[in-house]
Amino acid sequence: MSYVLVINSGSSSIKFQVVDPASTASDTPLVSGLVEKIGEPRGKISVTYAGQKHDSNQPIRDHRGGLQLAVAMLDSLGVGPTQIDLIAVGHRTVHGGQTFSGPVLITDEVVAQIRDLIPLAPLHNPANIDGIEVARDLLPGLPHVAVFDTGFFGDLPAAAATYAVNREVAEANQIRRYGFHGTSHEFVSGQVPKILGRDASEVNQIVLHLGNGASCSAIKGGAPIDTSMGLTPLAGLVMGTRTGDIDPGIIFHLYRQAGMSIVEIDALFNRQSGIKGLSGVNDFRDLHAKIEEGDENAKLAFDVYITQLRRYIGSYMIALGKVDTITFTAGVGENDAKTRAAALAGLENYGIVVDPERNAAPNDDPRVITTDDSTVTVLVVPTNEELAIAQKSAEIAAQ
Ligand code: ADP
Repeated sequence: MSYVLVINSGSSSIKFQVVDPASTASDTPLVSGLVEKIGEPRGKISVTYAGQKHDSNQPIRDHRGGLQLAVAMLDSLGVGPTQIDLIAVGHRTVHGGQTFSGPVLITDEVVAQIRDLIPLAPLHNPANIDGIEVARDLLPGLPHVAVFDTGFFGDLPAAAATYAVNREVAEANQIRRYGFHGTSHEFVSGQVPKILGRDASEVNQIVLHLGNGASCSAIKGGAPIDTSMGLTPLAGLVMGTRTGDIDPGIIFHLYRQAGMSIVEIDALFNRQSGIKGLSGVNDFRDLHAKIEEGDENAKLAFDVYITQLRRYIGSYMIALGKVDTITFTAGVGENDAKTRAAALAGLENYGIVVDPERNAAPNDDPRVITTDDSTVTVLVVPTNEELAIAQKSAEIAAQ
């Protein structure tokens, strides 16, 4: 069996998995691991292999130290890079800008190009580059592949991708809708026709990726025609801690009236808003517990979330003309029957009839939750971004 090492390098953490690209979405990876608190006095690395979790607590100076420890731990478990048939290293990379519309074999030039895109993703691309550089040093004999979060949306129709911002300013600053979570939207929308036994070219889809971050997309015959995230992952749906779409005038108002700096407004919109900013919690399990206790703020937060979600569903129904499937995925989408029910309540006139029992039945497999006579088929399909990255990396490595 051959494997791909999938690396998701963040500013203070590295998530990694060793994945068989031929496995299915519900299979567990051979190994999954997390290096946490890089650069802090108490670092931690944990690796799960064969159902057992192995922890090690020690300071981890930087990404290099973190990845070295991870490889050493894999070696000690007998699944190190030289002990298994490792065919590629896949790197989750957030922003591919207009340079990359698909996965790419990493060369020095590609690293330089990802570096050039840092202004578009100042929080994410530097950490991704750290992971790439360290992994290329530690595992030089393997093909390394960058898989971009923006990739799937590189060919959005111009009218969907263009903001009505002054054209010269927008062009000079690479301002356009890029979209994110592309690996998940592509993976899930690729599963749907297979589950239904239909040809991808004839299925019009809405995909709702509802995790801590959340985004949705309208997909016609396999190609996205619109998506809710924009220049940055702040736009679109209400999220765990992010605002989603708001009146941009609020920025000027906070700057002028509240004397807030751009840095403060950035933190407010990205980390202290969304469900958390309205209710005090960002996990939907806690949110429902609060609603059951009669907490009005929690109830309002949920209603605001659902209202925004329905705005997007409605607008994508119009954009597609005819909708065949609506698919829920990611932490909230896969697990929260209340969100799914509220998002699609009362849409029988549009051919959407959710079956309450199918919707509420706990299940980890891909499944249909509408009645047999619903014109639109609503599904829950678990996403698996690591597997998708592994598959793409294996494909590129084989070329
Ligand atoms: P991320 O965007 O961090 O990858 P995930 O897709 O893992 O997020 O989603 C995490 C979120 O999923 C949690 O914050 C929580 O709101 C939600 N979630 C996870 N499990 C459940 C559950 N059983 N019921 C309701 N919501 C859940």
